[in-house]
Parts: sequence; structure tokens; C-alpha cells
Amino acid sequence: MRKKIIAANWKMNMTVAEAGAFLDVFLVELGDANSAEVVIVPPFTALSHVSERLAKTEQAKLGAQNMHWEKNGAFTGEISAQMLRELYVRYVVLGHSERRSLFGETDEVVNRKVRAALEASLRPIVCIGETLEERDSGRVEAVLEKQIAGSLAGLSAAELSHVVLAYEPVWAIGTGRTASPAQAQEAHAFIRKQLSVHWDSSVSEKVRIQYGGSVKPQNAAELLHQHDIDGALVGGASLEPRGFAEIVKAAHRLD
Ligand code: PEP
Repeated sequence: MRKKIIAANWKMNMTVAEAGAFLDVFLVELGDANSAEVVIVPPFTALSHVSERLAKTEQAKLGAQNMHWEKNGAFTGEISAQMLRELYVRYVVLGHSERRSLFGETDEVVNRKVRAALEASLRPIVCIGETLEERDSGRVEAVLEKQIAGSLAGLSAAELSHVVLAYEPVWAIGTGRTASPAQAQEAHAFIRKQLSVHWDSSVSEKVRIQYGGSVKPQNAAELLHQHDIDGALVGGASLEPRGFAEIVKAAHRLD
């Protein structure tokens, strides 16, 4: 059975002080009886602080929002996988739609980062998903197929088993508009099928596929109940510690 994975993508939010205050509430609120894997993904500046706090507990793991594919060098403003590892980062979000649309990341760039992350024993959370225009013109499957083939090109089945995919329809991110559970399940089932076509069914059954796009305490349970939805990548609603704990508990109750 795939263990549910719920990640808090804080984006460009949370100072160190705010991150500390969040954890004070969240870790108490969450308690110990939790079967889902929780990943906190702060901005780079708060990684060190959150890392120290999480070192004392099994309740949550640490993730980063991006990285460069090179190990070091003249890449002003960039961070390498090795630098993240030094801070005990376990997961890295790659190819988020904001990185793709605002910073020009292509599937090829995402693929380089995915390979570099795996080489450094970081687990990539690879984001894919269609725009509203692509959905309205009936291109959801073609878009997902291209993103899967491009972002995950060249990975062995063993490498793929360490990847988490996040299906995030762009039209549902930060908009308050959520894909219906049926729409999300349909896309997730398609993604899993693609993995079995490009790799094999034993690995496609292992890979966890998160849903992302306006997940909140009110809709989490219904989404997470779907057969092929193995967790959530949560943006806005992950900034509020009690609400985020509720989302994690919704995943726990389903196990
Ligand atoms: C995200 O940015 O990954 C996301 C899903 O954001 P939100 O939950 O705010 O839609």
C-alpha cells in the first residue's frame, strides 16, 4: 500500500520567526498518531531553522522548493543538491508550475534537476499539470504525457520508485477552484497508466501521486479518498498550522 504524503509548499512566505511559530502550533496540533508522511517545504532562508526543529521529531520531514542541477560553480543565486543534503533536506519540489511559467523551466531543465536530485539521494516531487486553456481544448492527456516523458526521461524503474509526482492543474493553483475528486482521479489514473507504459506496472503501482490545487481542510478527505490520489501538495492552506494539521489528519483517517 502506498503511504500518503502531504507536503506544505510555503512558496515565498514565512520568515524564520514565522516558521518557528508555525511549528510550535503545528507539531502539537498534529500529535503522534499520524500515519501519513508529512513534508514541510519552507523557503531556503528558513531551511536551517526548520531542519533543527524537525531533527527532534519523526512527525515531519524537510523539503526544498527548488535546486540547480550542477554540484557547484558560477551560478549566482542558485542552490545545489549537496547544499540541501547538508541541511538534512529529504525532498525537493521540481518543475512547479510557477517555476515553469514565471522562470522559464522546461521539461528538459526539470529532467536535469530530477537526475541530479536522485544522484544526491534527494527525493524529487515532480509537478505536472495542464492550464485551463489546455483542459478546455481537450489536451489534458497529451500535456501530461509530454511532461511525464520529458521530466522523467532516462530514469530507471528503480530511480522512478523514489520519485513523487504531483498532479497540479494550473487552473486550480491558488485560485480557490479545485478539480473535482472525479476529475483529479481521472488524471491520476492516466498518469499511473503512463508510468506503466513507459516503465512497468510494478513501479507504477509504487509511485505516489499527490494532488495539488486549492486543497483545504474542507475538501481534503474527499480528494484523498480517490484510489490513485496518494497525498496532497498544499500551498495557501499550508500556511495556517491548524488547518494544515487537519489536512494531514484527513489522510490519516483514511488509512
Ligand atoms: C501549490 O502551489 O503547489 C498549490 C497547490 O497551491 P494552492 O494549494 O494554494 O493552490
